Amino acid sequence: MEYYSKQISKLIEELGRLPGIGSKSAARLAFHIINMPKEHVESLAHSILDAKENVRYCKECFTITDSEICPICANSKRNHKVIMVVENVRDMSAYEKTQKYDGVYHVLHGAISPMLNIGPADIKLKELMTRLQGDVDEVIIATGSSLEGETTAMYISKLIKPTGINVTRIASGVPVGGDLENIDEVTLLRALEGRTKL
Ligand code: ZN
Repeated sequence: MEYYSKQISKLIEELGRLPGIGSKSAARLAFHIINMPKEHVESLAHSILDAKENVRYCKECFTITDSEICPICANSKRNHKVIMVVENVRDMSAYEKTQKYDGVYHVLHGAISPMLNIGPADIKLKELMTRLQGDVDEVIIATGSSLEGETTAMYISKLIKPTGINVTRIASGVPVGGDLENIDEVTLLRALEGRTKL
């Protein structure tokens, strides 16, 4: 099975670990990289390393940023008393693109999934609860409508209820097990405006 030299096999193997890259794509990318001019390869390698070294989680909302606090959390014009809870950074950008939401976010980096053995401690839930000790009027739960998204929404709402903070859920029928980023802005806004109290 060793068609390729060790180095190429290694490169294909590494690329194949990336999400959405099958072995065929990995091989195609590997050969593309090998045929690229050396300075392009260096620039690619450096940007990967730079991103990894300099990008971190925002101290407040846990989105990915290159400073201690992300631009949204640092913006005093945003309503810091309304926190929208999303599963990932892509969902957050989907809402941001509508330019109609002026609250802040909390990125969980996942959803509770008993099947995948992902529990409450594996997502940024403790961090959310810590934030709620501050001055917060409403928590909008915008996790997906997949089984995991719903489980997470239910879990969070039970956790927050005793604090007396309003908990709302975006209108359902939006992202059926799918990515929020693929949903058009009008639908997203409708989901946000049609949110119901939990
Ligand atoms: Zn932030």
